[in-house]
Amino acid sequence: MGIDLTSPVTADVLSEPVQFLKGAGPERAALLARLELTTVRDLLWYLPRDVLDLTDVCEVQKLTSDKVHTVRGEVVEMDGRQIAGGRSLSAVLLNSDGQFVRGLWFNQSWILQKFRPGQIVLFSGKPKKHAGRWEFSHPRVQYLDEDDPNATGGILCRYGLTEGLRMWEIRRIIRDAVERCAGAVPERLPESFRAANALPQIGEALRQLHLPKSMDEYNAGRRRLLFDDLLDFQIALAVRRRMWKTQEDAPKLPTTAKIDARIRRLFPFTLTDGQNQAVREITADLASGKAMHRLLQADVGAGKTAVAVYGMLVAVAAGWQTVMMAPTEVLANQHWEMIDAALRESRVNRRLLTGSLTAAQRRKTLDEIARGEVSLVVGTQAVIQQGVKFAKLGLAVIDEQHKFGVEQRAHFSMTEAAVSPHVLVMTATPIPRSLCLTQFGDLDITIIKDLPPGRQKIVTGRITGTAARTRAWDFIRKQLRAGRQAYVVCPRIEEKVEDSAEYVAPSAEQVYRRLSTDELRDFRVALIHGQMDRVQKSEVMESFRSGETQVLVSTTVIEVGVDVPNATLMAIMQAERFGLSQLHQLRGRVGRGKFQGYCFLFSEADSAEAVKRLHVLESTTDGFEIAEADFEIRGPGDVLGTRQHGDLPLKVANIVRDRELLVEARDAAFQLVDSGEIDQPEFLPVKFDVLDRFGRLMDLPQSG
Ligand code: ADP
Ligand code: MG
Repeated sequence: MGIDLTSPVTADVLSEPVQFLKGAGPERAALLARLELTTVRDLLWYLPRDVLDLTDVCEVQKLTSDKVHTVRGEVVEMDGRQIAGGRSLSAVLLNSDGQFVRGLWFNQSWILQKFRPGQIVLFSGKPKKHAGRWEFSHPRVQYLDEDDPNATGGILCRYGLTEGLRMWEIRRIIRDAVERCAGAVPERLPESFRAANALPQIGEALRQLHLPKSMDEYNAGRRRLLFDDLLDFQIALAVRRRMWKTQEDAPKLPTTAKIDARIRRLFPFTLTDGQNQAVREITADLASGKAMHRLLQADVGAGKTAVAVYGMLVAVAAGWQTVMMAPTEVLANQHWEMIDAALRESRVNRRLLTGSLTAAQRRKTLDEIARGEVSLVVGTQAVIQQGVKFAKLGLAVIDEQHKFGVEQRAHFSMTEAAVSPHVLVMTATPIPRSLCLTQFGDLDITIIKDLPPGRQKIVTGRITGTAARTRAWDFIRKQLRAGRQAYVVCPRIEEKVEDSAEYVAPSAEQVYRRLSTDELRDFRVALIHGQMDRVQKSEVMESFRSGETQVLVSTTVIEVGVDVPNATLMAIMQAERFGLSQLHQLRGRVGRGKFQGYCFLFSEADSAEAVKRLHVLESTTDGFEIAEADFEIRGPGDVLGTRQHGDLPLKVANIVRDRELLVEARDAAFQLVDSGEIDQPEFLPVKFDVLDRFGRLMDLPQSG
């Protein structure tokens, strides 16, 4: 059993400063410190960014045209020219031990910039013989570093460097670390668990990773390190979920047939199958006596609100309070209006709590909430601010919470904290599975797959060039004249970079001025943006909702949830600047009524990525598919709606690149926790690691 973990010898070796390694010394240690590599342990866990595979390097005489070969040679000549059909041909000639081979590229003239004479490179691909010379068409190219031109075989790891540090130097230092210390790394996973998950022993894994004899070894070693990283995180989530399930007592909120009928009568429609299924899952949780922590996922417009309101009314019927928190004031107002209208005939005491209440109104409302006189509250983040205490909160609904990380889930206060409230989190738009498993990995998940009947496909097109733009505005004017309404959405205002010719996005204000004096001068156009005060904002929204305003120019204030059925036109300026899920969300704002909806993606960007991304939107309306594509192309930041990607507490794993492994680690982690195996003494080292890294994450939110 691996408890010799704490043996001082072991700990010492791994915590030793890097400068005592062969080839390091104080100077290189200082360079390594810039890469945050200060101890032997840091070095051992420093993942190569890629590898140079020289195992299959072949002599030119032995090339054949039937399989993939790799040749190694020195760049002697580069040549680019135009050929028939307006195409370009780029060629790079290599000297490989006195024999010449050529690499060829069509229509990729930029490739020549990546070569210079004298450089040592590898070409891999299926060669063809042409006029007595072997040619590789579009070969995979590997550049041997200046320092490794003599490398002739094997697999060489390549690490991220810093100015002044050379590849062979860091390689030598890491080699020494591995050879002297990898064997001393304590194994924290029991043998049976490793066997079940095909994981090499840790010391061996580190050797395989940094000093691989084959690509299989490299991949196996690397997999072990990534798996460990993901495993700890998923165990933390699984433990958190288990604590909720077993320890958090919550009010029992049963749904009787009578309550069910009363609630359904309040909706002006019948629930879809997907909504009914969601209601069943939620009501089962509410009746269980253990706190619900559930994520409700569905595409835009699937009708999450009705499902949430159903649950809220179950709580009220059982004599408990309930609250719905929305991310913006516009949305809080809208939910409030919908709920308020539905409850007009009822005696449910309800309040809207946002930042626009006067101090006196706010004090009164908080009093009523604390005394339990109010049963239902709708609000913004104002509902979780200091001073808001519920007498007996049964269910909290958090709408569109995908902007929060797993560590910052909202916390509601109660005056008496004998029980915890049930919590339902809703996301604005589908989340890719692997992101869901990390960001919301501790929650139970409900997915609504269907949409209410009669939903139409929004006609979507990318608008590029003057002619297309003219036609688009013509079309928009025609629709407006027919009585429809339009949104025009502009990207966030970007700061102009000093001394840079970089294109600066026109602000919503500029677009508003232009449209109201030019393209749309015959129509009533209004502007809404984040810097306006609340009163102004809700006035503008009101005027758009009532039809008074025909065109609403905005930043992404309207991104989430706004519902105006007569709006059928969504024009998005510089669409390439938005995340795909965000565009999908915006598109979901139109075509909600009986008229056909249209989405115009104005974009002059011609990069392959931009075109590919916008094409995804033109070709599918499935939000789950779009989310996956967005995630693959741009990573989690966009999908989460945050700028920074580093939200996730992982050391070496990356949830885009390693998403398959993530699922494996998750299954293993949840199996360990749910079966109780994790509580066996042999898993103690893992538990310590998890606590050490994620203790904070696992702290249950305390009520009160
Ligand atoms: P989202 O899931 O995007 O939050 P909403 O809850 O805002 O969607 O619902 C979108 C629209 O669909 C609203 O106008 C709502 O009244 C309507 N709706 C919801 N459920 C149904 C249903 N079962 N049948 C018809 N319309 C529905
Ligand atoms: Mg919504």
